[in-house]
Amino acid sequence: MIRVTVFNEYVHERNEAKVREVYPNGIHGAIAQALGGIEDITVKCVTMDMPENGLPQQLLDETDVLIWWAHLAHNQVSDEVARRVQRRVLDGMGFVALHSAHASKPFSLLLGTRSPVLRWRENDEQQRVWCVSPGHPIAAGLGESFVIPKDETYGEYFEIPTPDELVFISWFSGGNVFRSGCCWKRGAGKIFYFQGGHETYPIYYQTEVKRVIQNAVRWAAPTYPAIVFNEARCEQIPPVEQ
Ligand code: ZN
Repeated sequence: MIRVTVFNEYVHERNEAKVREVYPNGIHGAIAQALGGIEDITVKCVTMDMPENGLPQQLLDETDVLIWWAHLAHNQVSDEVARRVQRRVLDGMGFVALHSAHASKPFSLLLGTRSPVLRWRENDEQQRVWCVSPGHPIAAGLGESFVIPKDETYGEYFEIPTPDELVFISWFSGGNVFRSGCCWKRGAGKIFYFQGGHETYPIYYQTEVKRVIQNAVRWAAPTYPAIVFNEARCEQIPPVEQ
């Protein structure tokens, strides 16, 4: 079983009718739906307004992959919760950051980025997502490219460490390009960033995007029991061979 937790700040849907119309059950509801009905995946949803931002240690300890959607309120996630997420990723939990989660505290802690350094505009542009890593598990079943009919435009320069694996590059009809599907490993954990998913468009209902999320969850899930380091992370040890 892969135990997935979906974190959503859940602010746009409550405050803007336009967003609520697209996501009446919240963006987390749509992401959970994208993972619903898959026999070896279980999904829990949490929102930022819950105690401890919805992410107490026990839930993180029972999470194999954490999916993060946030945009307006990154600073309302406590530093303690952000560090807790970082530590769990280093111990082996997968982390899937969607759209504006590039500016979230856990993403910055894990990758050492300022947030956000990139270009953007809201202009109803088409995004063509190109697979630049054929055979990568996150690109499985998606072909050479696919189109998101309307999304917020993101453009380079995107200040991220060079991805360990670059899966997607997107072209936007306004002319910009963007590294839109990026993989990193940090400690024992795997991190995937996917650009698609501005809150005013029904992107998380789109078949190809749901497939990206499903594939990313499988890729990011720990392949062995997560490592939980004790306090002695840097311990002196006897030789293995005598
Ligand atoms: Zn956006």
